[in-house]
Amino acid sequence: MSLKGKTALVTGSTSGIGLGIARALAKEGAHIMLNGLGDAGAISKLRVDLAKQFAVKVDYDPADMTKPEQIAAMIKGTPARLGSLDVIVNNAGIQHVAEIADFPDDKWNAVIAINLTAVFQCTKYAIPIMKAQKWGRIINIASAHGLVASAQKSAYVAAKHGVVGLTKVAALETANTGITCNAICPGWVRTPLVEAQIAARAKQNGTSIETESVALLSEKQPMHRFTDVDQLGGLAVFLCSDAAATMTGTQLVMDGGWTAQ
Ligand code: NAD
Repeated sequence: MSLKGKTALVTGSTSGIGLGIARALAKEGAHIMLNGLGDAGAISKLRVDLAKQFAVKVDYDPADMTKPEQIAAMIKGTPARLGSLDVIVNNAGIQHVAEIADFPDDKWNAVIAINLTAVFQCTKYAIPIMKAQKWGRIINIASAHGLVASAQKSAYVAAKHGVVGLTKVAALETANTGITCNAICPGWVRTPLVEAQIAARAKQNGTSIETESVALLSEKQPMHRFTDVDQLGGLAVFLCSDAAATMTGTQLVMDGGWTAQ
């Protein structure tokens, strides 16, 4: 178990990719700080189940990624609650789909706050803690949309391109500190965030969920299958390993060939 005794904080880990990565890190022995929205009872059960399954400590912080003071308190408080803060996975994210001319200002602000500004805030408060212990891994969940664009996703594409740039700056600023900072850029992953887009398309086009799932994949990805959250978990574990000690400032795509075109 490569992460035994270390602590990983994963933002937006009550669902989807964040939960998959939290599980993969816990399987490697890391104590986990969960974060994200959701039903209190379900989150409490998740904490107990993960702790039991992987024999690690699992805590939860409800910090809202639109609230800088809550983010600061979560990051600064993690070493006291779980022993250290060694790995941070900046994963929380939302989507809104509309053309620029119709894009509501409040949706723009929310997407930028959660998908980009929160990554800056978490990184800002994590770096001093990781520097002091001379080891740290910062993993930013960007997207294929951090590298290429799609129509109707202005805020998301702007935020994810921003995350890729921020990752490079963090890598430069931490280059000789024992910290690495890298971005993972997934293509389509079948999580609630994508289920909502598939359902909206099916409603708009009067088609089935299955038809729209195939259409969604084939429009963008040469490979017509979804990446699953365990595969992204495996990549995060690799980034925490000694084999990746000199990998920093990179964008690792796992996108079924989307950005190869
Ligand atoms: P998801 O909707 O399943 O999970 C999003 C998580 O973020 C949830 O835990 C949610 O509670 C949390 N969250 C949302 N708003 C929050 C807030 N204000 N404060 C705290 N937590 C909040 O979505 P997902 O598909 O698992 O997405 C996770 C990340 O992966 C996002 O950054 C997304 O952009 C990125 N991504 C997803 C895909 C995909 O195909 N699903 C592809 C590329 C990148």
